Amino acid sequence: MVVDLHTHSDQSDGTDSPAELIRLANEAGLSAIALTDHDTLSGVEEARKAAGSAGPRLVAGVELSVEHDNVKIHLLAYFLEPGTGPLQDRLAELRAGRRRRNVEILARLRDLGYDIEEHDVAAQTTGEAVGRPHIADALVAKGLIGSRAEAFDGLLSDGGVAYVQRPRLSAKEAIQLATASGAVTSVAHPYTIDMNASTYPALFEELGDAGLTGLEAFYPEHAPSLREHLAALASDLGLVATGGSDYHGAGKPGLKVGTGRGDLVVPDTALSELEERRV
Ligand code: AMP
Ligand code: FE
Ligand code: FE
Ligand code: ZN
Repeated sequence: MVVDLHTHSDQSDGTDSPAELIRLANEAGLSAIALTDHDTLSGVEEARKAAGSAGPRLVAGVELSVEHDNVKIHLLAYFLEPGTGPLQDRLAELRAGRRRRNVEILARLRDLGYDIEEHDVAAQTTGEAVGRPHIADALVAKGLIGSRAEAFDGLLSDGGVAYVQRPRLSAKEAIQLATASGAVTSVAHPYTIDMNASTYPALFEELGDAGLTGLEAFYPEHAPSLREHLAALASDLGLVATGGSDYHGAGKPGLKVGTGRGDLVVPDTALSELEERRV
């Protein structure tokens, strides 16, 4: 059986509802799907209800933007249940940090001549993890820019003229909080980490020593050779090779739940191995 361990709903920057993700997972014949919205678990209840007893199995999770030695890394946390807990409580602070940061981005955009206010952004989402994609969507909705991608081109992108950082956890802090919350973590799309690939093994080994559980080897943007390389590296380092589509609905066109761009295969052993590592 196959699974998809990386998806986003309209509770963060995806465009499909959590229930729609379950429908797509069934259509793709998945035995399990992980909902990994950015910084929020607010879609879990709806997704789990939609999955019901017929399945697929719904794994609750989040994707976190963290920092390690001044390098940005995305971490996926799995088996993180809604409610309170060490990491869950910190998610609320991260979302508050997003809101403060968004206000600053909008002020910069107005300085640059874009007529945009907070209510324009709020109109773009019902979710609680609001961010740059929704600001981009608001610019598009007001006819001020052509597309989400165009809004990220030099304006909202990292280092862009309207870009403002938001508070991040350190990688080790995030791993510790996740572990204390009964969750396990995996490094998302390692190829996007902005450092020399020859230093990856040392980085993943260091994070492994800090309690990291997995490495996202199976990912649409990884060429088949890179998927194999990362799966072998994970195995060498005692980490679980995980994978997922990073489906965002219309927010990231061309991807399908389960199969990514058509050639993604994530074995269900990835999930059973993650589960075995839970403390
Ligand atoms: P934020 O969490 O508010 O900092 O926004 C980051 C999110 O923006 C990511 O999770 C992506 O979904 C989206 N994003 C980042 N870069 C781009 C891009 N170049 N084009 C479209 N979306 C992007
Ligand atoms: Fe995203
Ligand atoms: Fe990511
Ligand atoms: Zn993602």
